[in-house]
Amino acid sequence: APAETPQVVLDAHGLPYLDSRLPVRKRVADLVSRMSLEEKAGQMTQAERGAVGEGADVATYELGSLLSGGGSTPTPNTPAAWARMTDGFQLRARATRWQIPLIYGVDAVHGHNNLAGATIMPHNIGIGATRDPRLAEQTAAVTASEVRATGVPWDFAPCLCVSRDERWGRSYESFGEDPALVRSMETVVQGLQGSADGRQLKDDDKVLATAKHFVGDGGTEYGSSTTGTYTIDQGVTKVTRQQLEAVHLEPFRTAVDRGVGTVMPSYSSLDVLGDGRGPVKMHARADMINGVLKGRMGFDGFVISDWNALDQLSGDYPSQVRTAVDAGVDMMMVPYGYKDFTAALTGEVNAGRVSRQRIDDAVSRILTQKFRLGLFEHPYAQTRNASKIGGAAHRAVARRAAAESQVLLKNSGGVLPLRTSQKVYVAGSNADDLGNQTGGWTVTWQGASGAHTRGTTILDAMRKDGDVTYSKDASAPMAGHDVGVVVVGETPYAEGVGDVGNGHSLELSAADRAAVDKVCAAMKCAVLIVSGRPQLIGDRLGAIDALVASWLPGTEGDGVADVLYGKRPFTGRLPVTWPRSETQLPINVGDTAYDPQFPYGWGLTTLAKAPTGGATALRALGVAAGAAERAGADRAGRALVDRARLIVQQKAGPHLTAAIAKPFADADHLSLTGRYGAAVQKLAEAYRAA
Ligand code: BGC
Repeated sequence: APAETPQVVLDAHGLPYLDSRLPVRKRVADLVSRMSLEEKAGQMTQAERGAVGEGADVATYELGSLLSGGGSTPTPNTPAAWARMTDGFQLRARATRWQIPLIYGVDAVHGHNNLAGATIMPHNIGIGATRDPRLAEQTAAVTASEVRATGVPWDFAPCLCVSRDERWGRSYESFGEDPALVRSMETVVQGLQGSADGRQLKDDDKVLATAKHFVGDGGTEYGSSTTGTYTIDQGVTKVTRQQLEAVHLEPFRTAVDRGVGTVMPSYSSLDVLGDGRGPVKMHARADMINGVLKGRMGFDGFVISDWNALDQLSGDYPSQVRTAVDAGVDMMMVPYGYKDFTAALTGEVNAGRVSRQRIDDAVSRILTQKFRLGLFEHPYAQTRNASKIGGAAHRAVARRAAAESQVLLKNSGGVLPLRTSQKVYVAGSNADDLGNQTGGWTVTWQGASGAHTRGTTILDAMRKDGDVTYSKDASAPMAGHDVGVVVVGETPYAEGVGDVGNGHSLELSAADRAAVDKVCAAMKCAVLIVSGRPQLIGDRLGAIDALVASWLPGTEGDGVADVLYGKRPFTGRLPVTWPRSETQLPINVGDTAYDPQFPYGWGLTTLAKAPTGGATALRALGVAAGAAERAGADRAGRALVDRARLIVQQKAGPHLTAAIAKPFADADHLSLTGRYGAAVQKLAEAYRAA
């Protein structure tokens, strides 16, 4: 612990809200009844830590929260420096009349990614490929432990976006294109927060989670802007009411049931076809935030706006504030504009344009989470677990996740797994680049190529196992090698800059193409694609013996080497459809004309005993489930699809086909049409006949 950690003054006023024996509800009511309007407005305000210097404004404006945002000024890079920083701000907050602790938030979207040296997990797209919700939960638990140990009790994760078009620069933040897959990863909420009743939130290895971005962020149209610019990030999601429910809302419903503490609305606009409203920014959609989220779903946590999202609403500043607050946003992420916000909000309330009742509701929701987190009792960093940050136990979890996320797309002649006796020629832009392997949201917002944190590259890891020669640009593929491994793919990007057309494309770079061509012409080759989304392979596939989608595996290149060298089997499966060309986009399982290079759910295995018919069943199941959801199968039908999926997710092994087919065989009323329906019928018949 930092030497200067101040002592907590408990029960300073002897007031009920400081009595930890009282139920949270009573403590909240007591505290709210004592607060002034200015104090309440402060609680509803979140500023960027880079905007408040040493933090004097935390006390002056009685700020409820600070964040280190994506575009934040450089963050501290040791756990102790983080703890000192958050403790310093907390000390300021505790110097106010009611000593209300701050809640500090970060984007720890794949491990504590703001902290150099932390354990970096695969990005969500890779976690989706594992089809392993329990493993996802473990990765989240590691993240929570590393984050909380640096004095941060709140994580703006998970992204529950259902990515429907990989031209979106944030698609790697999605678990996949299928709502059922995304929904299955609700275990991440549990990994971060603990049990659904919120009782573990005060533990020193749990954090408050944020389901984001509500709702439809993964469904925005490509290039729909009237200005002609690419607007897929923060763009417009045009859907029918039924698609909205089945595709985009489902994962949020599950997260709310799991007790997720906060929800962040999306920057995007929602255009529900037929409702006559046209595109409306999510931060202004009272029907969705108040109506669906807080009303129908019964969400009782608080809603945190996205970074400066207020500024995107129509009208002058006071009406922007009014619109968002009235739509149900409880805390405003106003990184540099916190003074304007508190002034505008109190002004609107005093003028009678925002009700005091609404303010009390928002503040009560925020305080409830602060009490649940135990911040009144333990406002300062609890650093018991700080020594485990980036340690062996955490890295072992990340390594397993990296291994399970690898998807074997092609494997002619059994090139993979490699044997340790083979002479291996390794090449390509991403074989030895930790920054490219970890992607965006790593150390810095957009990420960066190169060795910016601690970990093993794929090359480092392969060298431990095998007899490896390396040449990044494959300058001279030498004779005498048994096999080539070419690791290519993307360089890091995050929101705003990663959209296709915005300086990025799904094509491999010229250097990558040259490396693949040279090596694959000279020897048997395996190509690994380290990227946040499918890259276009096209006809080149014919020249490649083995192809692996590695996604953004994180700091543990060892996990990738584990499957390459057969220490673990390949078991990952495509979380998104792999297109043949850009003209096919958007392409998703269940589309009527579906002819991708590799379908959703595809993934070969190097398991010693491959499950009989498993791959076929899986593919049929993937398309069937997608079709069922889109065809609006009834509740019972959807429940059956879910059951079948669960079995698949748990990797039922040799009995896979039968296990999948049974629920469908029982489902006379599951109305499926077209060739997907036929695939399911076949499965059902096979089961009945068996
Ligand atoms: C992103 C959010 C993120 C926030 C804070 C925004 O630009 O859209 O996902 O949580 O910044 O960094």
